[in-house]
Amino acid sequence: MAASGRLSTFRLPPLPTIREIIKLFRLNAVKQLSQNFLLDLRLTDKIVRKAGNLTNAYVYEVGPGPGGITRSILNANVAELLVVEKDTRFIPGLKMLSDAAPGKLRIVHGDVLTFKIERAFPESLKRCWDDDPPNVHVIGNLPFSVSTPLIIKWLESISLREGPFAYGRTQMTLTFQKEVAERLTANTGGKQRSRLSIMAQYLCDVQHLFTIPGRAFVPKPEVDVGVVHFTPLVQPKIQQPFKLVEKVVQNVFQFRRKYCHRGLGMLFPEAQRLESTGRLLQWADIDPTLRPRQLSISHFKSLCDVYRKMCDEDPHLFAYNFREELKQNKSKTQEKDKDKESYRL
Ligand code: SAM
Repeated sequence: MAASGRLSTFRLPPLPTIREIIKLFRLNAVKQLSQNFLLDLRLTDKIVRKAGNLTNAYVYEVGPGPGGITRSILNANVAELLVVEKDTRFIPGLKMLSDAAPGKLRIVHGDVLTFKIERAFPESLKRCWDDDPPNVHVIGNLPFSVSTPLIIKWLESISLREGPFAYGRTQMTLTFQKEVAERLTANTGGKQRSRLSIMAQYLCDVQHLFTIPGRAFVPKPEVDVGVVHFTPLVQPKIQQPFKLVEKVVQNVFQFRRKYCHRGLGMLFPEAQRLESTGRLLQWADIDPTLRPRQLSISHFKSLCDVYRKMCDEDPHLFAYNFREELKQNKSKTQEKDKDKESYRL
């Protein structure tokens, strides 16, 4: 409630529709850039409603494009909305929105992969990690080719408490290709259980909020779209460096249909592989014949904790990369073959 006892609500004045904006500024979607726009304001309102209570919030919208979600955010009584858009063609349409919402919308022409959001909002918004999430939200419908690398980057940022997480446990509501949304939220044993499931769920509470059919976008993408909400956990479920967790998870899932010992073995040089993999599984108390998707987050926690101990004992172990070893072995074999050839000549 405002001091007067009345709710101070803000609504955008009547504006041209998003479709009209697209025509007015000739904002044809660039297919190669996967620009699929949401024109239905009921859907953009739904995304924003599901993002949480945005009253007086500071919101960072990534990739606003013609501004459908932007309008819904502005109508949600936010304190400030900062949008970062890479494609200059969208800036005039966004300016029209900022004129209609004086003092509320800040437009940055930039790239979300490099933009430093940690300096953009007032310091006073910062919360301790253990506190409730700050009144800062990230919302966006980005091309799939950007949203997946971005979430991996931001998961690491959560572990380091930097970027959007310099403010505390900032919540994010982002869209992904439906299959990626299912991977992010898949439970132990689930068909879509994968690297992304572990990396997201050890750091966040992850919810697949709802699915938007591809036909709701213009132009229509090949796939449906999942809206996913992330709230960073106070205590990550695995307390090891992100890069170490990533390495263990990546190795396990590289042979996703085989027993888990197969991928785990690749953490170790060939000469010690059998013995070290046995030790890792035994100390972590894990059945070697479980398949990667049957491993729970607490299984991964045990594996990462034991692998960490092994890395502390052997300072070369973490840098070991079996692909490098394969390459070296291959070039050694090629050298030997060449020697044989020249001998024959
Ligand atoms: N959010 C709008 C909507 O829902 O209608 C547009 C969605 S469109 C799929 C993605 C938008 O993200 C485009 O406007 C595109 O130019 C922008 N974009 C793509 N890559 C970006 C990047 N690296 N940084 C900032 N914006 C980006």
